[in-house]
Amino acid sequence: MCRACPRLVAWREEVALTRRRAFRDERYWGRPIPGWGSERPRLLIVGLAPAAHGGNRTGRIFTGDRSGDFLFASLYRTGFAVQPTSVAAGDGQRLVDARMVAAVRCAPPDNKPLPAERDTCAPWLVAELDLVAADLRAVVCLGGFAWQAMWPVLGRCGFAVPRPRPAFGHGAEVRLTSARAPDGVLLIGCYHPSQQNTFTGRVTPDMLDAIFTRARTAAGLESDRPIT
Ligand code: SF4
Repeated sequence: MCRACPRLVAWREEVALTRRRAFRDERYWGRPIPGWGSERPRLLIVGLAPAAHGGNRTGRIFTGDRSGDFLFASLYRTGFAVQPTSVAAGDGQRLVDARMVAAVRCAPPDNKPLPAERDTCAPWLVAELDLVAADLRAVVCLGGFAWQAMWPVLGRCGFAVPRPRPAFGHGAEVRLTSARAPDGVLLIGCYHPSQQNTFTGRVTPDMLDAIFTRARTAAGLESDRPIT
């Protein structure tokens, strides 16, 4: 198990030991959160890092916290998830044509990883992107941190990265090509569905649905929900 970031290792394990009162009877995951979803995804969703009592508890990215509730509801409406909620591993949830990964795989204090921790974790993201790059058609970056984290990762996976790097914004789009993805991959910026953003209305369900509907089109997927 990776222990390359001492601050994050200490935090993920301390949270797993102390636990939140509401989850005191649960056994926390307390380890790095792996990517999750389709093994041949058309869409890759890149988040920030697992929440201390969300992914760090359940062992599955965006599972068991409010950000995940908001995100999965949209993924269900737009056909990328088979259920509108993601509560716990083994709950029957499944991603369709999509995969999720965190830019930093261990829960950080205050949900704020350091740039050095992002860089230390980058090889994991490179390895994951490398595995799925041939099938990918779209990448949605949830928040500016994920947007920034992806540029060096994309470069190391052979994508032609523009200079200067395009600025992050909700709905920002950049088309990238590589020898392994000659049709191109569309990188799309999206505000992070954090509680701070959703409670203040900076991110609404309609805004998130518009991003994932756009991602469906970019991924060459039909617009109707494919779930049976
Ligand atoms: S954040 Fe990434 S690099 Fe750091 S300890 Fe966790 S898995 Fe390892």
